[in-house]
Amino acid sequence: DASQTPDSVALTDVLPNPTPRDLLSKFDGLIAERQALLDTGVRDPFAIVMEEVLSPTLAIIKGRKTILLGTYNYMGMTFDPDVVAAGKYALDKFGAGTTGSRVLNGTYQGHRECEDALREFYDMESAIVFSTGYQANLGVISTLCAKGDYIILDADSHASIYDGCWLGNAEVVRFRHNSVEDLDKRLGRLPVEAGKLVVLEGVYSMLGDIAPLKEMVAVAKKHGAMILCDEAHGMGFFGEHGRGVFEEAGVADDIDFVVGTFSKSVGTVGGFCVSNHPKFEVMRLVTRPYVFTASLPPSVVATAAASIRKLMHAGDKREHLWKNSRRLHQGLRDLGYTLGTPTAQSAIIAVMMPDQAITVATWQALLERGLYVNMARPPATPAGTFLLRCSLCAEHTDEQVTEILATFAAAGRATGVIPQA
Ligand code: PMP
Repeated sequence: DASQTPDSVALTDVLPNPTPRDLLSKFDGLIAERQALLDTGVRDPFAIVMEEVLSPTLAIIKGRKTILLGTYNYMGMTFDPDVVAAGKYALDKFGAGTTGSRVLNGTYQGHRECEDALREFYDMESAIVFSTGYQANLGVISTLCAKGDYIILDADSHASIYDGCWLGNAEVVRFRHNSVEDLDKRLGRLPVEAGKLVVLEGVYSMLGDIAPLKEMVAVAKKHGAMILCDEAHGMGFFGEHGRGVFEEAGVADDIDFVVGTFSKSVGTVGGFCVSNHPKFEVMRLVTRPYVFTASLPPSVVATAAASIRKLMHAGDKREHLWKNSRRLHQGLRDLGYTLGTPTAQSAIIAVMMPDQAITVATWQALLERGLYVNMARPPATPAGTFLLRCSLCAEHTDEQVTEILATFAAAGRATGVIPQA
């Protein structure tokens, strides 16, 4: 019957439950928990607005001049005059965006120049720029590892590494955080002939601890695995050339793929993977998070390239960043705070807190005194911990570090998380 269109059938059918199930109801618990916290009168740690940004270390938040101690602007490149000038020039010359994928109309001269800067910075044959570091991990991991392959990753890996595993079809094996022994044991259980990728991070971003890369790489090699190292938090200030923890550990020749980001030391946004593998360029054709998304705007790749070139000669900044990190670590310990690492292993200093309520209260007490740090909570943090995460910048002055410590003293005593003076 030609009059019986599928539409009329659907409309006349009696549906047993015409009210759609609210798919957002699964978050009711989280909404209630958050509301209960806000009802105690604290600010929402995840709804901070930078009203003005004055420098890499200073912003206006709620009308107050605030020291920034919770950014990934490790090398302070966001306001570097050469970086800003390169971005302005590219914006004028090439426009606001590319409106296309890297494999279609979205590769401009600037993307190539940015990849050239990376190849030089890392002294590697190939560099592929992605739109974010998240997408670099998502794309590279899911594309390298197919059905029948194994991905072996540290249990504390970044979300982008886990998501890269989920996007692909490989088997996923986790080993205990930074445990060389557990890595060895788990690799030993896998079929000898299977493809294997061990995924490591130079710096683990929640506690700021570094990986024992020398030992881990030796174990991975022993079992015939390829190695990917995420240097998101190591680029710029580890190793002779600032390439990352893998350079400092002396294992550059054994790492197959280095993933990184422009959103930390480089000071803009974007991601990348560099490699010496002779077939690496094929990844441009087969990596979905590279192919099926728009490329970075010309101004962004221009700022990234300018910044990467300057980071090749940033020894003074690097030294000052380390000095700041060690001083803050020692100072916080002297005040009585419990920290994530026994010494400053990176520019991230994690203050361990007993529970959510005191974490938020201390976070707010710091903010009210003009200091912004990151609040971190599960699931981002390992083992259900609550953290006040401090990350230093090479542009923090000695006076600012003194002020930061004084603020931590006052705020911690006000909330009772450290003993009175
Ligand atoms: N890897 C690690 C270890 C990270 O910490 C991050 C970001 N915090 C990323 C990758 C993703 O970088 P992006 O911000 O460029 O997406």
